[in-house]
Amino acid sequence: MTNVVIPPALGPDDLGPDTSPVAYETDGAVAYVTLNRPDYRNAQNSVMTYSLDAAFGKAVDDASVKVIVLRANGKHFSAGHDIGTPERDFNTFYPNTATLHWDHTRQDGAALDSNQRLAREIEVYMGMCRRWRDIPKPVIAQVHGACIAGGLMLAWAADFIVASDDAFFSDPVARMGIPGVEYFAHAYVLGARRAKEILFTGQRFTAAQALDWGMVNHVVPRDELQAKVDEICAQMTEMPMQGLFLSKKAVNICEDQMGMRNAMDSVFGWHHFAHAANDADSGDSLGGMDAKSMKASAEKKG
Ligand code: ZN
Repeated sequence: MTNVVIPPALGPDDLGPDTSPVAYETDGAVAYVTLNRPDYRNAQNSVMTYSLDAAFGKAVDDASVKVIVLRANGKHFSAGHDIGTPERDFNTFYPNTATLHWDHTRQDGAALDSNQRLAREIEVYMGMCRRWRDIPKPVIAQVHGACIAGGLMLAWAADFIVASDDAFFSDPVARMGIPGVEYFAHAYVLGARRAKEILFTGQRFTAAQALDWGMVNHVVPRDELQAKVDEICAQMTEMPMQGLFLSKKAVNICEDQMGMRNAMDSVFGWHHFAHAANDADSGDSLGGMDAKSMKASAEKKG
């Protein structure tokens, strides 16, 4: 960890078609935001999260962009939050904060360990995903390969998901004693009983199952994925911006009226009880689990 130099998060002017950890390009009225940390299965460290925020902001600010596609380079969409790569940057503060909380690395009396964790998760996990969910332009998640835990948060924050037939999903964090990832949309996107099954077992579910359960809109062969997304984008970009923006807002309001936002706030408290309880029991807020042991547990069962 000590010798690793973590690059700064990208700002809107730094982003380009080949930049890492997030690439950005436009084609006509479509902006493509691409997770680009393939060596680490697009695990989300803070550099990636803040770079993503910059990319979404750039797409929102560009008057020629009507639709945003969130996709990924490499074999997998996202392995989740970074809990074990050499570039894990849990304690790095980025000045381009979304100002949802104060600097979570601040070392004064108000920032004991548990406060830091709370501040970080309010800003970097829950807060960012909620803001992205309310981006005033349609966002399609184009998912292939693994979409695990924090990966689900990104895909769920999008308006809908188009997946390839090799995509698979899971939220296995109950193994850490934690009741699901921070952006707790599970019961809304899966239904209560499926949500319980995937949480209680931690098992992977396939693109076909996700389609059957209504979590994704389309499943296509891997080599047809981009074309399918582009075809849907072409239909959407024919629509007026106001119609797209207000339609999105209308459905999001309905989800919120169904309690999603309030439920997330409430579950976030239990989520942080879990982190704090783990910390009190073992000194580790993740219950002694890391990326390796999580993967090993998943493979043993799956
Ligand atoms: Zn957490």
